[in-house]
Amino acid sequence: MRRLRQLSFPIFITATLIAACSSSDDNSGEPSGSAGSTPSGSAGTSHGGGSGTAGGSARGGSSFGGGAPLGTAGQGSSSAGAGNIAGSSNPGGGGSFGSGGSFGSAGTGASTGGGGASSTGASGSTSTGGSTSSGGSTGASGSTSTGGGGTTTTGPSEPSGMPLPPTNNVAKPSGTAGNLKVLDWAGFDSAVSFTFDDALTSQIQNYSALNATGVKLTFYLVSNNNGTSTTWSQAAKDGHELGNHTAHHCHDDGTGCGWGTYAGSLASELDQCTTHIEQQFGVSDVYTAAAPYGDAGYDTPDSTRFLLNRGVNGGSVAPNDNSNPFQLPCHTAAMGETAATFNAATDAAHSAKKWQIFLVHSFGGDGGYNPVAIGDVTAAITHAKSAGNIWADNMVHVGAYWRAEKLFSTLTPTKSGTTQTWTWTLPAHFPPGRYLRVKVDGGTLSQKGTTLAWSSHGYYEVALDAGTLTLQ
Ligand SMILES: [Zn+2]
Repeated sequence: MRRLRQLSFPIFITATLIAACSSSDDNSGEPSGSAGSTPSGSAGTSHGGGSGTAGGSARGGSSFGGGAPLGTAGQGSSSAGAGNIAGSSNPGGGGSFGSGGSFGSAGTGASTGGGGASSTGASGSTSTGGSTSSGGSTGASGSTSTGGGGTTTTGPSEPSGMPLPPTNNVAKPSGTAGNLKVLDWAGFDSAVSFTFDDALTSQIQNYSALNATGVKLTFYLVSNNNGTSTTWSQAAKDGHELGNHTAHHCHDDGTGCGWGTYAGSLASELDQCTTHIEQQFGVSDVYTAAAPYGDAGYDTPDSTRFLLNRGVNGGSVAPNDNSNPFQLPCHTAAMGETAATFNAATDAAHSAKKWQIFLVHSFGGDGGYNPVAIGDVTAAITHAKSAGNIWADNMVHVGAYWRAEKLFSTLTPTKSGTTQTWTWTLPAHFPPGRYLRVKVDGGTLSQKGTTLAWSSHGYYEVALDAGTLTLQ
């Protein structure tokens, strides 16, 4: 649609994007698989699409003892291929998951397989996971699973497909049924999300380096800047989030548009961008946004369209705190900022057990706001990821967890004898296929008749889509 003369923009852009920020959203299979079909088989290993090897492998590694004997979880290998197939570098093949039941498996598979032919270990079914992602493909039929999710290094091996915290070998609680507690940040100490605003050319040029970190990122796109780049489609396939940063990047009074002319209303600015992302980049829905310049006028229209909106004010977010989900704070990269200061922010949030969102614009050469060196940003992402006890993931994943934990904190279970049941309704614009990690002193947790499996990492994974949880 309205394309801009991008080449003539750089200078203008620099002048106008002073507080640029973002929006974004997601895409691909992020919602990692939710309901899978019953996974029976152990997953095969999945070579992420990219690599030339036939995809679909997901090596079963039953790291999680889940239920069914066959349901070992797959751990996708990641041959990081930058291939053209979906799922590429996400190793996370999700495999089928033991607990098999309805919420079963999850898989966020990385693979797209080329088909089962060479996949190893596949046996069983292919858990076709939830919404978009399907489980690590397993052999034979794995051909089409489009992964979305896996974490990076060690693929997910649990229903949620979320990264696994380092704590392990935790014995299943055997005390009295009760004392349900939601783990902050999915069992990690803290969380970080890296967001990239404005759909800048240098982001496209450095996409491979960003993707190679193995961390799921959020790109807040301005639909009229680089609006037909296939890099965004690839990013969605790789499990990154494509978010809404409006159609023309204007202030909330319609002035100062960075790319093109004001659509006439903030609602139109947001809706045109979402429609473009969905139609152009193969994304089924857009869950989060970032307000251009962080302008507060976007907060309300964002609140009726998205799960959350990122602003540009400094700060971080604590579990169950009162941060406005439609004006979330972040650390905005200064011009030439180095990894050392990004890491200091990550470490401070880690100590405080909070969620630090980062906002990066340009990597230089495109006239974008506050350029920084790609090496400093990838080093910062790697620092967070390699810390071990920090959950590094995109906005919709961490944000959905944060909002769901807040929701849980308001629930009171109904009791019948020694059985307690929690029921809930998710917030509007909540992504499907998400989970909370919880622990109890003892007892059996189930959802709609399916017993939840204990993870040796120290929790049960509760499927949020189920809307109910029973402890007895
Ligand atoms: Zn911006």
